[in-house]
Amino acid sequence: MIVAEQKSLDEIKTMLAPYQKVLIVGCGTCVTVCFAGGEKEVAILASALRMATGLEGNPKQIMEATVQRQCEYEYNEAIADKLKEVDVVLSLACGIGVQTMNEQFPEMLTLPGLNTTFLGQPTEQGVWVERCQACGNCVLATTGGICPIARCSKSLLNGPCGGSQGGKCEIDPDVPCAWQQIYDRMKALGRLEALLEVAEAKDWRTSRDGGPRKIVREDLRLEK
Ligand code: SF4
Ligand code: SF4
Repeated sequence: MIVAEQKSLDEIKTMLAPYQKVLIVGCGTCVTVCFAGGEKEVAILASALRMATGLEGNPKQIMEATVQRQCEYEYNEAIADKLKEVDVVLSLACGIGVQTMNEQFPEMLTLPGLNTTFLGQPTEQGVWVERCQACGNCVLATTGGICPIARCSKSLLNGPCGGSQGGKCEIDPDVPCAWQQIYDRMKALGRLEALLEVAEAKDWRTSRDGGPRKIVREDLRLEK
Protein backbone atom coordinates (compact mmCIF):
# COMPACT_ATOMS: atom_id res chain seq x y z
CA MET A 1 0.00 0.00 0.00
CA ILE A 2 0.97 3.64 -0.24
CA VAL A 3 2.01 4.69 3.25
CA ALA A 4 1.65 8.27 4.42
CA GLU A 5 1.52 10.24 7.63
CA GLN A 6 -0.25 13.41 8.54
CA LYS A 7 1.55 16.73 8.48
CA SER A 8 1.79 18.53 11.80
CA LEU A 9 -1.18 20.61 12.89
CA ASP A 10 1.07 23.69 12.84
CA GLU A 11 2.04 23.12 9.20
CA ILE A 12 -1.57 22.50 8.24
CA LYS A 13 -2.69 25.65 10.08
CA THR A 14 -0.03 27.69 8.28
CA MET A 15 -1.16 26.35 4.87
CA LEU A 16 -4.78 27.13 5.67
CA ALA A 17 -4.13 30.58 7.14
CA PRO A 18 -5.37 32.55 4.07
CA TYR A 19 -8.65 30.62 3.86
CA GLN A 20 -11.85 30.70 5.89
CA LYS A 21 -13.95 27.80 4.55
CA VAL A 22 -12.11 24.53 4.22
CA LEU A 23 -13.19 21.13 2.94
CA ILE A 24 -11.08 18.28 4.28
CA VAL A 25 -11.27 15.31 1.89
CA GLY A 26 -10.11 11.89 2.98
CA CYS A 27 -9.50 8.81 0.87
CA GLY A 28 -10.96 5.40 1.61
CA THR A 29 -8.10 3.29 0.32
CA CYS A 30 -4.40 3.08 1.31
CA VAL A 31 -4.36 6.06 3.66
CA THR A 32 -7.40 4.70 5.49
CA VAL A 33 -5.59 1.42 6.07
CA CYS A 34 -2.49 3.20 7.39
CA PHE A 35 -4.64 5.45 9.61
CA ALA A 36 -3.46 8.68 8.01
CA GLY A 37 -6.32 9.99 5.89
CA GLY A 38 -9.53 8.01 6.22
CA GLU A 39 -12.93 9.16 7.44
CA LYS A 40 -11.87 8.92 11.07
CA GLU A 41 -8.72 10.96 10.57
CA VAL A 42 -10.70 13.57 8.63
CA ALA A 43 -13.09 13.91 11.58
CA ILE A 44 -10.27 14.16 14.13
CA LEU A 45 -8.35 16.74 12.11
CA ALA A 46 -11.53 18.74 11.47
CA SER A 47 -12.23 18.86 15.22
CA ALA A 48 -8.65 19.83 15.99
CA LEU A 49 -8.75 22.65 13.45
CA ARG A 50 -12.10 23.91 14.67
CA MET A 51 -10.83 23.98 18.24
CA ALA A 52 -7.44 25.47 17.39
CA THR A 53 -8.78 28.23 15.16
CA GLY A 54 -11.60 28.93 17.65
CA LEU A 55 -9.15 29.32 20.51
CA GLU A 56 -7.12 31.70 18.37
CA GLY A 57 -10.23 33.88 17.89
CA ASN A 58 -10.62 33.23 14.15
CA PRO A 59 -12.74 30.09 13.86
CA LYS A 60 -12.72 28.55 10.41
CA GLN A 61 -15.61 26.67 8.84
CA ILE A 62 -14.40 23.14 8.34
CA MET A 63 -16.38 20.70 6.23
CA GLU A 64 -15.63 17.01 5.88
CA ALA A 65 -15.87 14.41 3.14
CA THR A 66 -14.23 11.11 2.28
CA VAL A 67 -14.23 9.50 -1.14
CA GLN A 68 -13.48 5.88 -1.86
CA ARG A 69 -10.40 6.55 -4.03
CA GLN A 70 -9.19 10.11 -4.51
CA CYS A 71 -6.85 9.14 -7.36
CA GLU A 72 -9.77 8.51 -9.71
CA TYR A 73 -12.03 11.15 -11.20
CA GLU A 74 -15.19 9.08 -10.98
CA TYR A 75 -15.04 8.86 -7.19
CA ASN A 76 -14.30 12.58 -6.75
CA GLU A 77 -17.38 13.58 -8.76
CA ALA A 78 -19.40 12.80 -5.62
CA ILE A 79 -17.95 15.84 -3.84
CA ALA A 80 -17.98 18.30 -6.76
CA ASP A 81 -20.93 20.22 -5.28
CA LYS A 82 -19.23 20.63 -1.91
CA LEU A 83 -16.33 22.44 -3.57
CA LYS A 84 -18.67 25.32 -4.44
CA GLU A 85 -19.11 26.06 -0.75
CA VAL A 86 -15.47 26.38 0.29
CA ASP A 87 -12.34 28.48 -0.32
CA VAL A 88 -9.87 25.62 -0.37
CA VAL A 89 -9.58 21.84 -0.11
CA LEU A 90 -7.23 20.05 2.24
CA SER A 91 -6.67 16.54 0.97
CA LEU A 92 -5.82 13.67 3.27
CA ALA A 93 -5.02 11.42 0.31
CA CYS A 94 -1.57 10.54 -0.95
CA GLY A 95 0.17 12.90 -3.36
CA ILE A 96 -1.59 11.18 -6.27
CA GLY A 97 -4.99 12.02 -4.82
CA VAL A 98 -3.95 15.63 -4.21
CA GLN A 99 -2.80 15.99 -7.81
CA THR A 100 -5.92 14.30 -9.16
CA MET A 101 -8.08 16.79 -7.28
CA ASN A 102 -6.07 19.74 -8.63
CA GLU A 103 -6.33 18.39 -12.20
CA GLN A 104 -9.99 17.54 -11.96
CA PHE A 105 -11.07 20.76 -10.26
CA PRO A 106 -8.58 23.34 -11.56
CA GLU A 107 -10.57 26.29 -10.25
CA MET A 108 -10.08 25.03 -6.68
CA LEU A 109 -6.74 24.70 -4.92
CA THR A 110 -6.28 21.38 -3.14
CA LEU A 111 -3.54 21.36 -0.50
CA PRO A 112 -1.71 18.30 0.87
CA GLY A 113 -2.47 17.33 4.45
CA LEU A 114 -0.24 14.25 4.36
CA ASN A 115 3.36 13.45 3.66
CA THR A 116 3.30 10.53 1.22
CA THR A 117 6.19 8.39 2.32
CA PHE A 118 6.63 4.97 0.71
CA LEU A 119 5.21 1.74 -0.67
CA GLY A 120 5.10 -0.50 2.33
CA GLN A 121 3.66 -3.23 4.43
CA PRO A 122 2.24 -3.23 7.96
CA THR A 123 4.63 -5.51 9.86
CA GLU A 124 2.98 -5.22 13.27
CA GLN A 125 0.25 -3.12 14.87
CA GLY A 126 1.20 0.51 14.27
CA VAL A 127 4.34 -0.20 12.24
CA TRP A 128 4.73 0.14 8.45
CA VAL A 129 7.94 -0.66 6.62
CA GLU A 130 9.09 0.20 3.11
CA ARG A 131 9.01 -2.76 0.76
CA CYS A 132 9.14 -1.45 -2.82
CA GLN A 133 10.51 1.60 -4.62
CA ALA A 134 8.58 0.93 -7.84
CA CYS A 135 11.80 0.55 -9.84
CA GLY A 136 9.87 -0.63 -12.89
CA ASN A 137 11.87 -3.83 -13.44
CA CYS A 138 11.35 -6.17 -10.52
CA VAL A 139 14.31 -8.34 -9.44
CA LEU A 140 12.54 -10.26 -6.66
CA ALA A 141 12.84 -13.50 -8.66
CA THR A 142 16.60 -13.47 -8.13
CA THR A 143 16.62 -12.39 -4.48
CA GLY A 144 14.23 -14.81 -2.85
CA GLY A 145 11.40 -12.31 -2.84
CA ILE A 146 13.25 -9.70 -0.76
CA CYS A 147 13.80 -6.34 -2.42
CA PRO A 148 17.43 -5.16 -2.35
CA ILE A 149 16.44 -1.80 -3.78
CA ALA A 150 13.93 -0.78 -1.14
CA ARG A 151 15.32 -2.78 1.79
CA CYS A 152 19.09 -2.36 1.39
CA SER A 153 20.05 1.15 2.48
CA LYS A 154 22.43 1.38 -0.49
CA SER A 155 20.20 -0.49 -2.96
CA LEU A 156 23.05 -2.90 -3.63
CA LEU A 157 22.38 -5.60 -6.20
CA ASN A 158 25.28 -7.99 -5.74
CA GLY A 159 25.54 -8.77 -2.07
CA PRO A 160 26.19 -6.85 1.11
CA CYS A 161 28.50 -3.95 1.74
CA GLY A 162 31.25 -4.15 4.35
CA GLY A 163 29.00 -2.61 6.97
CA SER A 164 26.72 -5.60 7.45
CA GLN A 165 27.24 -6.77 11.04
CA GLY A 166 25.38 -9.53 12.86
CA GLY A 167 22.52 -9.38 10.38
CA LYS A 168 22.02 -5.65 10.86
CA CYS A 169 22.58 -2.71 8.54
CA GLU A 170 25.34 -0.28 9.33
CA ILE A 171 22.94 2.64 9.22
CA ASP A 172 21.09 1.52 12.34
CA PRO A 173 21.29 -1.56 14.57
CA ASP A 174 17.49 -1.81 14.42
CA VAL A 175 17.48 -2.14 10.63
CA PRO A 176 17.92 -5.66 9.27
CA CYS A 177 20.57 -6.02 6.58
CA ALA A 178 18.55 -6.84 3.47
CA TRP A 179 21.41 -8.86 2.02
CA GLN A 180 21.63 -11.00 5.15
CA GLN A 181 17.90 -11.59 4.75
CA ILE A 182 18.34 -12.44 1.08
CA TYR A 183 21.19 -14.85 1.91
CA ASP A 184 19.16 -16.56 4.64
CA ARG A 185 16.13 -16.86 2.40
CA MET A 186 18.07 -18.23 -0.56
CA LYS A 187 19.79 -20.71 1.75
CA ALA A 188 16.44 -21.88 3.07
CA LEU A 189 15.23 -22.28 -0.50
CA GLY A 190 18.32 -24.30 -1.38
CA ARG A 191 19.22 -21.72 -4.04
CA LEU A 192 22.40 -20.16 -2.68
CA GLU A 193 24.29 -20.88 -5.88
CA ALA A 194 21.97 -18.45 -7.69
CA LEU A 195 23.58 -15.63 -5.72
CA LEU A 196 26.87 -16.34 -7.47
CA GLU A 197 25.37 -14.92 -10.65
CA VAL A 198 26.56 -11.35 -11.02
CA ALA A 199 23.69 -8.96 -11.56
CA GLU A 200 24.54 -6.59 -14.36
CA ALA A 201 24.25 -2.86 -13.86
CA LYS A 202 20.58 -2.09 -13.55
CA ASP A 203 18.94 0.02 -16.20
CA TRP A 204 17.42 2.69 -14.02
CA ARG A 205 15.47 4.25 -16.88
CA THR A 206 12.52 2.11 -15.80
CA SER A 207 12.72 3.83 -12.42
CA ARG A 208 12.49 7.56 -11.73
CA ASP A 209 15.72 8.17 -13.64
CA GLY A 210 13.88 7.85 -16.94
CA GLY A 211 11.49 10.68 -16.06
CA PRO A 212 7.78 10.40 -15.26
CA ARG A 213 6.57 6.94 -16.14
CA LYS A 214 3.46 5.84 -17.94
CA ILE A 215 1.81 2.50 -18.64
CA VAL A 216 -0.42 2.25 -21.68
CA ARG A 217 -2.58 -0.86 -22.11
CA GLU A 218 -3.93 -0.71 -25.64
CA ASP A 219 -6.24 -3.64 -24.89
CA LEU A 220 -7.99 -1.61 -22.21
CA ARG A 221 -8.20 1.70 -24.03
CA LEU A 222 -11.50 2.92 -25.44
CA GLU A 223 -11.63 3.23 -29.22
CA LYS A 224 -10.84 6.79 -30.24
S1 SF4 B 1 12.80 -4.85 -7.37
FE1 SF4 B 1 11.81 -2.94 -7.96
S2 SF4 B 1 9.66 -3.47 -8.37
FE2 SF4 B 1 10.59 -5.21 -7.29
S3 SF4 B 1 10.06 -4.86 -5.12
FE3 SF4 B 1 12.08 -3.91 -5.49
S4 SF4 B 1 11.72 -1.79 -6.06
FE4 SF4 B 1 9.78 -2.90 -6.21
S1 SF4 C 1 24.54 -3.28 5.74
FE1 SF4 C 1 23.25 -4.55 4.42
S2 SF4 C 1 21.32 -3.36 4.14
FE2 SF4 C 1 22.89 -1.98 5.01
S3 SF4 C 1 23.72 -0.97 3.21
FE3 SF4 C 1 25.10 -2.73 3.66
S4 SF4 C 1 24.25 -4.43 2.46
FE4 SF4 C 1 22.69 -2.83 2.46
